[in-house]
Amino acid sequence: MHELLSWPVIKRLYECACADPQFYEHLQKDGEGTLLLAGLDIPCDAALHTLESMKDTTYEEHPYFALYLPRVKDILAETERRLAPDNFAMQDYFSLGLITKKRMCVQNSLLRSHPNVRYFPVIFELSEGCSVGCSFCGLGAEKLSKVFFHTDENAALWKEVLSATRELVGQAAGTGVCYFATEPFDNPDYELFVEDFKRVFGHTPQTTTAVADRDTERFRNFIRSISEEDMYNAAVRISVRTKEQFYDIMRLFSPEELSDIEIIPNNPESVNRYAASGRARDEKNAVYSISCLAGLRVNMAAKKVTYEEPELPCDEFPTGERIYGSMPFTDAGSFRRAVSELSERFLRAGIKNEDVIVLPDGVHVEINGNEAAFFGDGAVLRVTGNRFFTEGVKLLSDKGISLAETGKKLYNSDYVMNMFREKLERIFEAGYLRCLPKELF
Ligand code: SF4
Repeated sequence: MHELLSWPVIKRLYECACADPQFYEHLQKDGEGTLLLAGLDIPCDAALHTLESMKDTTYEEHPYFALYLPRVKDILAETERRLAPDNFAMQDYFSLGLITKKRMCVQNSLLRSHPNVRYFPVIFELSEGCSVGCSFCGLGAEKLSKVFFHTDENAALWKEVLSATRELVGQAAGTGVCYFATEPFDNPDYELFVEDFKRVFGHTPQTTTAVADRDTERFRNFIRSISEEDMYNAAVRISVRTKEQFYDIMRLFSPEELSDIEIIPNNPESVNRYAASGRARDEKNAVYSISCLAGLRVNMAAKKVTYEEPELPCDEFPTGERIYGSMPFTDAGSFRRAVSELSERFLRAGIKNEDVIVLPDGVHVEINGNEAAFFGDGAVLRVTGNRFFTEGVKLLSDKGISLAETGKKLYNSDYVMNMFREKLERIFEAGYLRCLPKELF
């Protein structure tokens, strides 16, 4: 690492190399012009030397990652702390997050290499649709149609909704964000809603924006308003849509201003790929859901709560989300009823007698004697049992079956059924089965 360069500068050099694979070449040909474009005031040989030293190094030796990895570990530890069982008032939401993670990793091996993938029990949206229309939108956001303004009446409802969520789901609900298939800064009052959120949950929620360059003063004021600790915990990320926008952002903000802001280069030239669902779905390559929600999506503009879980993106679920059901709300009372009823009807942290048990997309079963082998994407779970077990598994792998139906078709004994149920629970918890409420069929 060049001793002249600070963390914000090394970070920016790394981001330039990710967002623009030609950056190094341009630097060699026109050092001054390229550094100007990147908003960097450093000697060209220092930039070249740092980028060269990034090649063929281990993570530990890498000049950027050596500084960045301890930070990632801290952020992961903080997320784990917020999602610890004690922070859930409804323990089933804690189990659901773990089971969903296991299932998604069984369905797509790429997710297994991302230890930071977590599923939140609740997220909030402060508008309907999105004005940006990114070509890579993993959630396929519709056009912006409605904004929830911070009027006295709306602010009161928002605070009641946050407090009710905290009470019903638990403090862990505060790990969620206040945007989803929406752009946070489409809401002119986003900052005020974030302040309210902070008063209820005690920290600033994470913000990812694709329009940091739309109103630079607004964005600057926003990041200045965040405490050092909240900022350290990855509070703000900038999603980059095009290479031109990337260089605009580099020009508009100094490396120091963005030293705690994560840049996510989603532009087509970028060496990274984050979204693989919705508008970024690609038939030829592996797909996975970009959704980080297994639970409740609260849209304040539509005054609607929806229960959903992530799925492998496919024709039926192009955005990688399975929507189970929604309920409207008008006040704190109807919001509470919606949260309780949707959770009761759809949340599954175990198998219920009437649930339809199916194999998740991308999982298949092979039966060999008394063994059933469940194959996911590069993952396998082998379970042995008796003849009844393998016959039951055959039935569910065909087109799905409930425990109640299996009992009628195959078994008369409670003892055998209990053994079968116990094995299925284990397979379900490992992510190789899905339990879908009967009302969805
Ligand atoms: S990625 Fe975000 S900003 Fe872009 S269209 Fe989707 S919701 Fe809007």
